[in-house]
Amino acid sequence: MFESLKNLLKHFTGNQEAESAVPAASSQQSTPAAPAPQAVGKSSTQYHTLGEFNLGLGTIGPANRKDIDQKVLGDMYQAVASGKFNIPVSGVVPEICVDGRTDKDGKRKEAPSAAGGTLSIVYGSDLGGTPTANDIDEMQLTKRIINTLKEKGHSTGVHGDDHSSCGCGACAKAKTIYQHIAERINDIAALASQLGIDLTEVEKSSIVRQAKNRLSQSDFFAEDRAAILRAAQENGAIFEELIGAHNELGIALNTKPGTTVDRSAIRAKYGPQYDMFVVDAWAFATAANDINSNGSDEYAQRIANAITLQNVATASVLGHGSLSIIPIG
Ligand SMILES: [Zn+2]
Repeated sequence: MFESLKNLLKHFTGNQEAESAVPAASSQQSTPAAPAPQAVGKSSTQYHTLGEFNLGLGTIGPANRKDIDQKVLGDMYQAVASGKFNIPVSGVVPEICVDGRTDKDGKRKEAPSAAGGTLSIVYGSDLGGTPTANDIDEMQLTKRIINTLKEKGHSTGVHGDDHSSCGCGACAKAKTIYQHIAERINDIAALASQLGIDLTEVEKSSIVRQAKNRLSQSDFFAEDRAAILRAAQENGAIFEELIGAHNELGIALNTKPGTTVDRSAIRAKYGPQYDMFVVDAWAFATAANDINSNGSDEYAQRIANAITLQNVATASVLGHGSLSIIPIG
């Protein structure tokens, strides 16, 4: 994974200009299920979109918005990419969700982010870990991973919102996300590969096999989605209640160790309707190493990759094809 992150950094620092000269290079073989990139504004075409990879089944994204200014959007992407909004965090594994919203005080916990917060590690370790007996369900896994992380000295966290019973999309749609991984592994892996994270055929097939196992295991996923959030809290996860509607306009992919992106500062600068999903990919390898019960590097790598896939798949299930991926390295 460290090697992947190194490649990731190299890719972004080395190829960004070349890519901006040939913005559609990677979209040639994909069927455009999403609006044309020009809808996002010329200044942002240097960034890859979910739609280029035939991903983005959801509605969250700039093409569905009438309240944003394309120039401001382009400026925001550039500023986010420059690392201007990065702030230090003390944690080293994902604790809070990629969600771009804030709580009623306009704040977020300053901690590493992944889709679902700690639940990203739950799903990633399930998809990428040693094949487990089918007598384990999502609820038991959630409790076990949270307690393992606590034993290793990590904080854990989940969130809801002020208007839904399960206000975290990564949790509410966990089963759909597993289905998406099972059905669309090649598109999801193609996006990951573009970001410097290459999965082997063995890794891809084992992750797909595990996703299918879980989908066919009756009652693996809890019927009451909020029960997963409650169980997490009962086992020590910190809970954030976020407010309002999803206004995310892009995905900040942050590879700067020890940092996250300050959602409040983005709103303060551009307005409350300008939000970003934040993926702190630098924290995935540490999480994978710390919950890998198998002990081998091979599995740690596979879990880290599975966490990456779970993040891409969550973005694809919730987000629209017009969402750009903004690397911060
Ligand atoms: Zn969430």
